[in-house]
Amino acid sequence: MQGEAGALLRAWVEYFRDLGIHDFYRRGEPATLAASEPEAGPAIRIAAVEGGRFANQAPSRQPISQPISQTISVPPVSLISFNDLAPIPMAATPPAEREAALRAIQEQIGDCTRCPLAYAGRHKIVFGDGSPTARLMFVGEGPGADEDAQGLPFVGKAGQLLNNMIAAMGLTRAEVYIANIVKCRPPGNRVPEPVEANTCSQFLLGQIDVVKPEAIVALGSTAATYLLGVRQSLSSLRGRWHRCRGAKLAVTYHPAFLLRDPRQKVETWKDLQMVMRELGLTPPAPKNT
Ligand code: URA
Repeated sequence: MQGEAGALLRAWVEYFRDLGIHDFYRRGEPATLAASEPEAGPAIRIAAVEGGRFANQAPSRQPISQPISQTISVPPVSLISFNDLAPIPMAATPPAEREAALRAIQEQIGDCTRCPLAYAGRHKIVFGDGSPTARLMFVGEGPGADEDAQGLPFVGKAGQLLNNMIAAMGLTRAEVYIANIVKCRPPGNRVPEPVEANTCSQFLLGQIDVVKPEAIVALGSTAATYLLGVRQSLSSLRGRWHRCRGAKLAVTYHPAFLLRDPRQKVETWKDLQMVMRELGLTPPAPKNT
């Protein structure tokens, strides 16, 4: 599927994904997640529509007249919680050694070609950014175009909003640590495929174990899904604490989603306040004008 209709459909799929809705089936199609096919992984059925039918419309509730059904086979989705992937190191890396330990992980990644994203137009590997001794870590989904160009996470529009969120918590960007589920830009900013996220997870896992944050904020459903090893709606995961690698983990909306739906900023602020309470943070005093 190409062109405007494809781009619009992709935007809708992304929008629903931010709401925690992942799987789409054409109306009238029997579900294809056959229990007898676990080895092949789930088949994602996406209804493609001819003639830009989605232009300026909500997804139609009418039967689609000329559907072209496209089946994409994805590798098995192994939803393994980061807690189960490797034993948490018995001894924390001493704070003075954390920067070097992170550098060692980065060197191990090298000019990575372990997953298809290496061949999908990547310019820079986006390792992570911030304090190696941060008490708070944010994990997003994957680099966008700006991040791919600069080699730093969250430096585009969504990054500006994340910076504001961090400042509202009374912190600076340099005091927290920021990373993503995948370190290379998925083409067209699509959701990372399971094989990409799972291949990259060993390095994020290493970063979490080295930095040893007290709290992690999963930004959006991709981060929540892979860090927790559960595929649940964002709304069902928000507002309570989870655990990841010995840290407390909170789930909130991705800043890119907040740019599309600013009304959810109120809810996001509630999530961030939960984190602030846990870390004993107070918001900065309002500036005198
Ligand atoms: N979105 C993400 O999930 N990560 C980034 O680094 C930038 C945008």
